[in-house]
Amino acid sequence: MRILLVEDEQKTGDYLQKGLTEAGYITDWVQDGLSGLHQAVTENYDLIILDVMLPKLDGWKTLTELRKTHRTLPVLFLTARDQIEDRVKGLELGADDYLIKPFAFAELLARIKTLLRRGMLKEEVTFFAIADLHLDLIKRRVIRSGKRIDLTAKEFALLELFMRRQGEVLPKSLIASLVWDMNFDSDTNVVEVAIRRLRNKIDQDFHPKLIQNIRGMGYVLEIEDET
Ligand code: CA
Repeated sequence: MRILLVEDEQKTGDYLQKGLTEAGYITDWVQDGLSGLHQAVTENYDLIILDVMLPKLDGWKTLTELRKTHRTLPVLFLTARDQIEDRVKGLELGADDYLIKPFAFAELLARIKTLLRRGMLKEEVTFFAIADLHLDLIKRRVIRSGKRIDLTAKEFALLELFMRRQGEVLPKSLIASLVWDMNFDSDTNVVEVAIRRLRNKIDQDFHPKLIQNIRGMGYVLEIEDET
């Protein structure tokens, strides 16, 4: 397990790095927000401990920037006792937990263990593939056969649903409720039209076909059966 510690106070940093290392975590320590951000995006960490008051880039901005590319990396905020509103702000910006300075080291270790465990559980899938079709949730990008494909927001949501439930036959009414958040019990024409457009973009000029129509049942994303 690797931890990045971003803390500008020499004494606290020293103490934490030593303690975390002794507890068995490989711990890198940097002393300002910019270095923290750089380190966090170029290296692989399991958790970040982030102080709020930091030179160059404060903890808020560092977290905001970090969340653009690392949505699920656990971040533990360190905040001063008298800045209670900090906690709320930190959580709103995407911190997973916070600890008020000064804190007991045992408390820090307990929080770290919880976050790491939670982090492993929620390991969010952000990239999907079938045949040569790729969907990247973070970059909001769809590529087939190395070629970028432009989708509307609804088409993207539709393809994301198919990707998440590959091989499963999805009835039109279910697709309508999940993608349009509405009930189309009688009129599922909207779904058909959207799927036709999506197929034109991702299937028409490619092989094999990936979105299959199962008559009377719905649609399924799977590599076409050519036998
Ligand atoms: Ca500080």
